[in-house]
Amino acid sequence: YADRDGKIWMDGQLVDWRAANVHVLSHAMHYASSVFEGERCYNGKIFKSREHSERLHFSAGELDFQIPYTVDEIEAAKTAVLQANGLTDAYVRAVAWRGAGEDMGVASARNPVHLAIAAWEWGNYYGDAKMKGAKIDIAKWKRPSPETIPVHAKAAGLYMICTTSKHAAEAKGCSDALFMDYRGYVAECTGANIFFVKDGEVHTPKADVFLNGITRQTVIERLKDKQIQVHERVILPEELEGFEQCWLTGTAAEVTPVGQIGDYNFEVGTLCRDIAADYEKLVRS
Ligand code: PMP
Repeated sequence: YADRDGKIWMDGQLVDWRAANVHVLSHAMHYASSVFEGERCYNGKIFKSREHSERLHFSAGELDFQIPYTVDEIEAAKTAVLQANGLTDAYVRAVAWRGAGEDMGVASARNPVHLAIAAWEWGNYYGDAKMKGAKIDIAKWKRPSPETIPVHAKAAGLYMICTTSKHAAEAKGCSDALFMDYRGYVAECTGANIFFVKDGEVHTPKADVFLNGITRQTVIERLKDKQIQVHERVILPEELEGFEQCWLTGTAAEVTPVGQIGDYNFEVGTLCRDIAADYEKLVRS
């Protein structure tokens, strides 16, 4: 991704794509002091744009740093970067991090905080698996306790085990990995939340120890609008056997049906297709 034409918004300026670099002694490189957002622009409008910018501020706060741009300034920067690259349908990545400066130890109060925003065309995250039903592995790592790490921040440090779990899943021919949490309950995938269907009702893990995705919240609202019962609750891994349908939600994943998790199979059923179509319509409305 480094060698491309285009512009990236970096610390208040649109810079050439290839020149959007950071120093190797950036604090974030060594201590994971970085937070980010993944957003999608449809027909020239970023879906839930402000919510994403607000979450970026929240995540930075959880890591004890402040982004030196307001939500309004971030909104304007996203518009500028989309315009500069001539994009109307794109994935938008905002990232804020502690840079290189006076401090090189763990403490970093004197180092500058940076913000960069890039945008590019990015199709469905699960590619061909999208409507066929993705095959999901079970991760060997667990989502950590909220007493261990700020689990509701979209922070780079939380993704270390996502990368290794996704690599392990792909090596087995799967598209993603499902995490249990530190208590052994079903949690989320490496970049998406998870939903199940049984007897016409929807069940999804309570977002108490992982990212309460903006797509997750949107899909729950839509289901409720359609008078479909949604149970946000503790889900045990043993329950996977009894669910009929399953899908993932996320900005990149959108609504992606799941066909298999480990040894359990799910049908790509009507509700799953309906909610995927409904989401697609909503984001473009
Ligand atoms: N969980 C994780 C770990 C994620 O990376 C994402 C993607 N941001 C999600 C859930 C879904 O969040 P959202 O719907 O806000 O994109």
